[in-house]
Amino acid sequence: MNRGPVSQLTSGKLHSKPIASAALDHDANSFMNHWQKMNASVTVPHIFSKLYDLSYISNLAAVVDPSLKRKGMWFSDSDVFKSLEAAIWASQHDASLLQKIKFDEILQIISRAQDPDGYINSWFQIEARDQQWKDLASGHEMYTAGHLIQAGVAESRVLGKGKLFDVSVKFADLLVKKFGGDTPYAADGHPELETALIELYRETENQAYLKLSEKMLEGRGTGYISSQNTGRFHPSPPVYIQDHMSIRESAHAVGHCVRQMYLNMGVLDLFMETEDKALLDIQEKMWEDSTYTKMYLTGGVGSRHRDESFGDPFELPNDRAYAETCASIAYYMWNWRLLLATGNKRYADLMEQLCYNLIAGSTSQDFKRFFYSNPLHRRADHLAAFDEESSERMDWYRVSCCPPNIGRLVASIEHYAVSENPTEVLVHQFLHGDFASDTNQPWKISAMTSYPHSGSLKLDIKEFGEQVLKVRIPQWCKSFQAVVNGKKVDSPTVEGGYLALKSCKSGDQIEITFAMEFEYVYPHELLDASRGMVAVRRGPEIYALDQSWNSPDVLVEHLKIIADSKFKSEITKDPNGIEFTKVTVNGSYLDLERSGPSYTTDSASPSAQPVELVLVPYSRWGNPVTGGMRVWIPRVN
Ligand SMILES: [Zn+2]
Repeated sequence: MNRGPVSQLTSGKLHSKPIASAALDHDANSFMNHWQKMNASVTVPHIFSKLYDLSYISNLAAVVDPSLKRKGMWFSDSDVFKSLEAAIWASQHDASLLQKIKFDEILQIISRAQDPDGYINSWFQIEARDQQWKDLASGHEMYTAGHLIQAGVAESRVLGKGKLFDVSVKFADLLVKKFGGDTPYAADGHPELETALIELYRETENQAYLKLSEKMLEGRGTGYISSQNTGRFHPSPPVYIQDHMSIRESAHAVGHCVRQMYLNMGVLDLFMETEDKALLDIQEKMWEDSTYTKMYLTGGVGSRHRDESFGDPFELPNDRAYAETCASIAYYMWNWRLLLATGNKRYADLMEQLCYNLIAGSTSQDFKRFFYSNPLHRRADHLAAFDEESSERMDWYRVSCCPPNIGRLVASIEHYAVSENPTEVLVHQFLHGDFASDTNQPWKISAMTSYPHSGSLKLDIKEFGEQVLKVRIPQWCKSFQAVVNGKKVDSPTVEGGYLALKSCKSGDQIEITFAMEFEYVYPHELLDASRGMVAVRRGPEIYALDQSWNSPDVLVEHLKIIADSKFKSEITKDPNGIEFTKVTVNGSYLDLERSGPSYTTDSASPSAQPVELVLVPYSRWGNPVTGGMRVWIPRVN
């Protein structure tokens, strides 16, 4: 048994459910396997060294030790709890991790910091006791509680119920007592507690947590949360805090992206436990709104730095993209819930797009530096006014929500790959490892692949019963070949975009090859920011024209691409020895004065010389940043 997030669903009518056991092979020389290994041995320890150095952990100790001074943001405890969740999932990949980060000592500190009634939030406990629960719009008390509860659930699933789980339950019980039942409505301006409470319900079967989550979700849009604003932290207009509209009417993705996505996770969790179809229907409408008109090609969401928010449809500036790492991680987690609820392949396709582009690009190849904001165009002479728009990946941020989020997703990524129902086993994501069920129809599959570098997937069927094995055919794939026990399948059955292997049995050896070709991607006519440009894609990976891979004499911003030119590809290796494909295409170099002026009445084109452009996967750009980068590249007319 090896359970991950969202693994204890109680509802009976979902399309499929997570499986009991999944584990990646860390000796495999493939992108995600290596990343998960390094996440446990490098990223999570790095995060904890920051939590120690910057007083995040001593802030909690300071609750009962007046000799310590509290420092940092009022919601800093949330990063401790989210990092603990990451460490617990990752402890399965590095046996020394918990000792390395002094896990038991941190749990002691948290336990001592908890008030007798269950409350814990070091900022309010130290700085403003009399302000507890008085600024629900932006105080983040429930948001922080949500991350505590998710860490407690992770502890229960991986290590067994211990101190963290006990602290979580005690706080959750306080929340139920204070805000549940017939008490006046209350919820937090930063959604997160809703999804966490339903996970706790799954772990405990205590209906009170589900009911409280439902109450908090259903009351949104009444303006109550907006009214609970002391002005102490920051202004909170209703749309920014997801209090502008009922979740039953909300078909458009708006406001702060991470808050919208965490709220959506809660709504889908509520649907999955109550089977109230209206909730699913409206959420699927929102998915179309956000994915079709408000999402970048790399899987980023958030067009505006102001309020970290969604923009209007097709408002997708490449250079000023906010595209926070956390937003795409939450989008990934929301899509997993949509996939389990519906079985619609489009959600699995999008998870792949998010994973191998924006999410993968957020982390440096030494695994201890991260992007907060993930633009699709970085100018060589970019000036960052705030740390979240830095040109380089940074080892920490003033608001450092993203690194722990990367840590917890990568540490549990294998749990988002395969699902099952009584008649089907569904392989959604292609990861090198072992997957198994412990239902009354046991099965076990070993998967071998170096995806996304290669489109080849081998499945070794160790054990199988009466179910149909289904393997997702990626949305980008134009042709594929399936071979079972050395024999090519002549007329493969495809159902709902999945290859259906109806007579799969124990001992079968299956080889599926998705043809991976380079291709050009064109923007929608209304996508003004990318009009006249093209992007390059190979399989699930979007490519970037990155100065690091081109001559310093050929500035990226002076380059145009000949969009019908042939691709010349070459396999290369990253610093970790993981293979990937770089590509060269023909283009031209514009002879330009960089000093302007910015406009002229002269319609003549500048002189241009032929040149070759080198592109690499967006996930590899800027290691290190040596100049400009762009995903959408202007075309030679
Ligand atoms: Zn973040």
